[in-house]
Amino acid sequence: MNNKIKYNDLKTPVSIEENRSPLWEKIFAEAVRDPEELCRRLEISDENVDLNPTFSMLVPEPFLQRIKPKDPLDPLLLQVLPRKEESVLIPGFTTDPVGEDGHLSPEGTLSKYHGRSLIVTGKRCGIHCRFCFRRHLSFPGTKKTDIPVCFAIDPERIAARFMADPTIHEAILSGGDPLMLSDRQLQDLISHLDEVPSIKRIRIHTRMPIIIPQRLTENLLRFLGNNKRYGRTAKMIVVLHVNHPNELDSGVSRSIENLIDSGGILLSQTVLLQNVNDNLPILSELFERLIDLGVIPYYLHQLDRVAGATHFEVSTKKGGDLITKLRTRLPGYAVPRYVREISGEPGKVVLK
Ligand code: SF4
Repeated sequence: MNNKIKYNDLKTPVSIEENRSPLWEKIFAEAVRDPEELCRRLEISDENVDLNPTFSMLVPEPFLQRIKPKDPLDPLLLQVLPRKEESVLIPGFTTDPVGEDGHLSPEGTLSKYHGRSLIVTGKRCGIHCRFCFRRHLSFPGTKKTDIPVCFAIDPERIAARFMADPTIHEAILSGGDPLMLSDRQLQDLISHLDEVPSIKRIRIHTRMPIIIPQRLTENLLRFLGNNKRYGRTAKMIVVLHVNHPNELDSGVSRSIENLIDSGGILLSQTVLLQNVNDNLPILSELFERLIDLGVIPYYLHQLDRVAGATHFEVSTKKGGDLITKLRTRLPGYAVPRYVREISGEPGKVVLK
């Protein structure tokens, strides 16, 4: 126990130049991966818990510390605890709800939107969200030794692909979580993308600053930040995945402020989840807190109908009503677009 990392007094950002193995990787390695252990730690019953889930459980300590013990309905716990209902099969919920299967190029890119191309940077995440639409992609991460060292994509080949297609103006880094790549890997990828004259924007979709805020090291902030200050041409946009105000503790808030200080554009996306955030006070608080931190709420996603996540679905009628009410409570810029991804559509469909 004495050898465990102490999280409470951590200050972010952390300089990695002084650490050969960055702190965030140690935190990832020590994440709780056993549902029984999680229940024990939080003093809750494991009666309705799948103790041996197909989509493995992964909960790092900084996120775990934001879950209230003895509360089986804690909104953060519900997002990560494998429940027996995940194995209930419901028609309409599939393993590939947005139709990505078989559409990846050999370089790991996906060009389903006009002018933009998505790069799947790997299959690793800092946490395993039970509602994830890519949960059937067989994420690695079940072993404590499974540190994120693999880098399946080749930045040179990706850059060459974009050089050959000047209609692509925006590269979107997705995953898994792009911030599971090492600083060196990310820097290499971003530098190669920046050398493509037609790429004007590089967008990173990530949940890591929310899950393991220590991931935003000084080094990472240097090259995620403002393009002019760091000699880059393409504009950097970071989209944070955050679902509940309880996810925004002081460590996360500090990390977000550091990210904002570095000068990039910061947006957020949220998935509408039953019993987690499907009510007006919670969504209002979340979007107001984000605005106060300097993050523009961008998307509220209708759940992708992925097998195993049925119990998270909220009706679009309820989602639409929530957006209407949010508009009467919050300034327009604090209310995100309520969207849904429909397989085969050239962009997200705006529901409200
Ligand atoms: S962080 Fe994103 S990609 Fe990873 S499991 Fe969660 S929702 Fe899925």
